[in-house]
Amino acid sequence: ASFSRIAATDASIQSFLTLNEEGARAAAAELDKALADGGEQGILFGLPAGIKDNIVTEGLLTTCASQFLRNYDPIYDATATKKLKAAQAVTIGKLNMDEFAMGGSNENSSFRPTRNPWNTDYVPGGSSGGSAASVAAGQVYFALGSDTGGSIRQPAAYCGIVGLKPTYGLVSRFGLVAFASSLDQIGPLTKNVEDSAYVLQAIAGYDPNDSTSANVEIPDYVSALSGDVKGLRIGVPKEYLGQGIDPQVKEAVLAALKQFESLGATWEEVSLPHTEYAVATYYLLASSEASSNLARFDGVRYGVRAENPDNLLDLYRKSRSQGFGQEVKRRIMLGTYALSSGYYDAYYLKAQKVRTLIKQDFDNVFQNFDLIIGPTAPTTAFRIGEQVGDPLTMYLNDICTIPVSLAGVPAISVPCGFANGLPVGLQIIGKAFDERTVLRAAHAYE
Ligand code: GLN
Repeated sequence: ASFSRIAATDASIQSFLTLNEEGARAAAAELDKALADGGEQGILFGLPAGIKDNIVTEGLLTTCASQFLRNYDPIYDATATKKLKAAQAVTIGKLNMDEFAMGGSNENSSFRPTRNPWNTDYVPGGSSGGSAASVAAGQVYFALGSDTGGSIRQPAAYCGIVGLKPTYGLVSRFGLVAFASSLDQIGPLTKNVEDSAYVLQAIAGYDPNDSTSANVEIPDYVSALSGDVKGLRIGVPKEYLGQGIDPQVKEAVLAALKQFESLGATWEEVSLPHTEYAVATYYLLASSEASSNLARFDGVRYGVRAENPDNLLDLYRKSRSQGFGQEVKRRIMLGTYALSSGYYDAYYLKAQKVRTLIKQDFDNVFQNFDLIIGPTAPTTAFRIGEQVGDPLTMYLNDICTIPVSLAGVPAISVPCGFANGLPVGLQIIGKAFDERTVLRAAHAYE
């Protein structure tokens, strides 16, 4: 069913980069056989899954939507991929994204842009745009994405589905091609909150292969979905509903808050005063980390090697000039500059300090509130091509998701009506490792 749906829709959506038809059929047959032999069903038994193309899959191309890795055929599975297999999901294929997860519209894919299933003239968001579009178009049952500054939540919002960024450290990053290691998290994109809880259950957990993996006990996420939010205290940051927010998006969020009230929760306006510095802080830190992480792509160890170099330096230069797209180069240059001697204190170190202030904003609000709620993105999806020439406008689309990433706390985007004929996302933010409350509230609301 999944492959025939893809055959019928992917010419217009373009969410897949690689299909795993033979592998999926073999895996499904094996699952059937194990079940017939009396084996137990895993929690994702037989569910067709899509995987973002920056999460490595053994024997299945993993390109990060980059020309640099267009021939990269991994010899191992990411921990998240392994855990999906252990839960008995079936990998349908690899999903399009912005190159190396840098972007918010999928237009930075070096292969082709994915389109929004609600209206194919519009972007699906990004960087996990292929993952979001694929779930929204009914091609797969669920997908994995990665979120560094909003890349699960924002495309989920634009495509009218559910996207969860877990607490930093909850899901192993082993086998996730690194963009900004202190921010990257893998998480589920699903049609509803219950599915999100099941997928999170399958992929969360300590991993000695990831030095930032949290050694915490994994609770039962599915049992958190009680439908009861009575007495929950919600803080609504005034900075998320102020300037730059589309009035129709604001209206949809206020209507959602009314619904929470009618379910017995209470809400109050709060302040996250350092929000205005979050985008600048993020683009300094994420780019700095990216400039370091992407140094490994030198034309020698991974991916495509430039032809006819004059010498070793020329090999690096040619491979990197040909392999990376424009946005990736922009980030590498920005990050290298911010880390360079003489500028480190003024930019990188300063940004680290502001990151601490942003995290403290969240700590302060969470002393008196269980959840923070606002829009996932200031607007609905925009037209393909509308913002490509304007990276700064593009960066501002992340204003509501980036602070959450810098603070490392969990957040989910759930559909909350429509504005301008396109889906709106409601962002529900929780305390570190309190995914249960986040999921409970999202489930009661949806
Ligand atoms: N849009 C943001 C960026 O371009 C976030 C990307 C992400 O979360 N991977 O960096």
